[in-house]
Amino acid sequence: MSLFVDVILPLPLSNRYTYILPDDLAEQVKMGIRVIVPFGPKKYYTAIVTEVHDRAPEGYKLKSVVEILDRAPIIFPGQLRFWEWIASYYLCTIGDVYKAALPSGLKLESETLVIYNPDFDVSVSLNAGEQTILESLANGKERNLATLQKECHVKNILPYIKTLLEKEAIFIKEEVRRSYKPKMETRVRLCNPNVECIQTLLESLKRAPKQQAVLRTYIELACLESGEELEEVCRKDLLEKSGASSSILNELIEKGIFELYQFEIGHLKEENQRTDFQLVHPLNDYQQKAFAEINHLFSEKNICLLHGVTASGKTEIYIHLIKQTLQAGRQVLYLLPEIALTTQITQRLKRVFGDQLGIYHSKFSDMERVEIWQKQLSEKEYRIILGVRSSVFLPFRNLGLVIVDEEHENTYKQQDPAPRYHARNAAIMLASMHRAKTILGTATPSIESYFNTQIGKYGLVSLSQRHHAVELPQIMVVDIAELIHKRRMKGAFSPLLLEKMRQALEQKEQVILFQNRRGFAPMIECHTCGWVPKCKNCDVSLTYHKGLKQLTCHYCGYTYSVPQVCPACNGNDLRNRGFGTERIEDEIREIFPEARIARMDLDTTRTRSAHEQIIADFQQKRTDILIGTQMVSKGLDFEHVSVVGILNADSMMNFPDFRSHERAFQLMVQVSGRAGRKKKQGTVVLQTKSKDSPLIEQIVKADYPTLYENQMAERLLFKYPPFHRLVYIYLKHKHAELVDAASREMAIHLRRIFGSRILGPDAPPIARIQTLYIRKIILKIETSVSLSKVYEQLQYIHRSIQEDERFRYVTIYFDVDPY
Ligand code: ADP
Ligand code: ZN
Ligand code: ZN
Repeated sequence: MSLFVDVILPLPLSNRYTYILPDDLAEQVKMGIRVIVPFGPKKYYTAIVTEVHDRAPEGYKLKSVVEILDRAPIIFPGQLRFWEWIASYYLCTIGDVYKAALPSGLKLESETLVIYNPDFDVSVSLNAGEQTILESLANGKERNLATLQKECHVKNILPYIKTLLEKEAIFIKEEVRRSYKPKMETRVRLCNPNVECIQTLLESLKRAPKQQAVLRTYIELACLESGEELEEVCRKDLLEKSGASSSILNELIEKGIFELYQFEIGHLKEENQRTDFQLVHPLNDYQQKAFAEINHLFSEKNICLLHGVTASGKTEIYIHLIKQTLQAGRQVLYLLPEIALTTQITQRLKRVFGDQLGIYHSKFSDMERVEIWQKQLSEKEYRIILGVRSSVFLPFRNLGLVIVDEEHENTYKQQDPAPRYHARNAAIMLASMHRAKTILGTATPSIESYFNTQIGKYGLVSLSQRHHAVELPQIMVVDIAELIHKRRMKGAFSPLLLEKMRQALEQKEQVILFQNRRGFAPMIECHTCGWVPKCKNCDVSLTYHKGLKQLTCHYCGYTYSVPQVCPACNGNDLRNRGFGTERIEDEIREIFPEARIARMDLDTTRTRSAHEQIIADFQQKRTDILIGTQMVSKGLDFEHVSVVGILNADSMMNFPDFRSHERAFQLMVQVSGRAGRKKKQGTVVLQTKSKDSPLIEQIVKADYPTLYENQMAERLLFKYPPFHRLVYIYLKHKHAELVDAASREMAIHLRRIFGSRILGPDAPPIARIQTLYIRKIILKIETSVSLSKVYEQLQYIHRSIQEDERFRYVTIYFDVDPY
């Protein structure tokens, strides 16, 4: 009797494929292991076994499994159910989900690019096949596996590649390569750290006033006398602040008073390896009450929204919930919307939970991600996983709690490629499959989540006090329309903002400036004829990047040189229009030449350590002013920020999308929340041209209830979520006429079934990206309608369009619950 396996391939295919199992492999096969199978002409893929059976399919000739890669399953059975849920809810294929879920190193295929590891330990023993392949790769050039296989005359290369990867002889090449080089700094400390001896020391230097001055500066910088925690002192700062020369410092070192040491900056504190629940901060009264309420609600509800103002201590409450979950012997998944946030939270969690904490995100090398995956399968798994979106795909044996921090963040929704899933909603599903509880936390809830608390689906717990009763920042609105008219703006800055910044800097406090555009100028324009440079691949104007001396398309990444004259009229009056973060930085450097300035946006945070560096520098007061895009708005906790400037509120408010007001409220309340987190009240200067808009008033008062009421009224009227479910249907092709025809045809089919619930087709605001024309059809469907029926219809229409010869090459996909 022959045996067969059904497998999932890492390709956008909905079906399982069946292969014959050769007799000699039959013993070892089980569900959840990887096998290598041929697919299409001469291609091999790593597939995952979903079933072993003896039902011979009829009607076509089967191919055979080539090799088995694992002894034990590399996914838990529950994961497969989770993948299936994602594929069916977000209308994509199980192959898409498999591709997104596994790190590349676990799903080798013919196109996988590999490179030689120059640091490979040659004493590791290799078999003949491995040896041949490694020699072929050793010249340093990257190769895909298909090419490599040809070169080496090996019949099937994947098993060798798998073992070479395990022996770390080669790497999978990725877009984001590991580029982490720690930055070192020289620091100074007292040889004898005993504070009592300080007076004696000062005494002893009476006759060397310059040396004594250095010691005094040190005492001040290290906060030796304030009784607070000691601050680290860097050599450069000490010399600058004391005005001493390095030879004076050297004399003190020779006397055995100071010593120098190297410190890796970016990494803030020594890592604590052991778990020590003693280190959990006790909760204050409000937090205690909220914590008890959450536990009470969890007895009858699975999901709870923690609506706590910024700096109320939500993170401290999470820490208590984690502790409780670990003590019950279960695991925790802690989701964050952005890598930038992981640094700070990692420190806070590591302090308490030590090496029980694992971190998972896309700036890790693939090898590290494979390691974490395998660790989670083992008996010694991390008990807590802190990560971004894709960590919902990790194997969990025994999940007890899911935390979704900043649950309102739209970056939880994956845009491209499929699966276009919302990590918050997927995590809620994952939790329910594990019978785990979910806590959603935010200062600015999404309308959807808040709605769910109002209808009793989620529990709601509110925290309206900041820790230590620090007041929420005072928001001052500045009417820049008037100031521009009176010519009183200095570049992008109102006199009030500059005044507040100056005061803050004088008092050695820090400033955050928020501008939601990166680059130097969002566009350039010919002042004579109005010509604006556009991308040749996309329907968007180009952003000017001064530092790089180029124009960049933020949609396809294509770059252009900056024209000297206008190609339309030959005029040479090309002007920058608008302000990006780079231009803000330039202007600030001119206005405050002494200030130390840093910028945090997509352009300055391309490498793995860049975020950590910028945040660590700001946290340790090595920079005074931090300029950034929405990256600076998110959950960061800085102690010394007293002023936040929102440079231009209007672009956020006027964005053409039904969520724009909700988004603008969230962004501005969040960024304001960075001010005055400890000790004293902060100030926010909010610059806008629509001073009297009700939305601005809601932001100033942090009046969420009114925002919610207004939004709900609008959404009911215009049939938006949470009252209706949205599905966007996208069609793309490089010929406009073809995509027009296909989308019209599709809309006709759709209207036959869904009637007036179908809108479009329309060209979206950016109607062409990467040379493809885009058309969009919208389905607005009552939430009461059964989804599976709707999806069946959609899939059916999708297939019928795609089966039409003319439209075979039109790309069609769905975006369910779009953001
Ligand atoms: P949120 O997550 O609500 O913005 P955080 O948890 O970051 O608030 O708390 C703000 C600041 O107050 C942090 O620096 C945190 O360490 C401190 N803090 C909050 N609650 C406590 C507590 N119970 N004990 C000690 N420090 C606390
Ligand atoms: Zn011109
Ligand atoms: Zn482009």
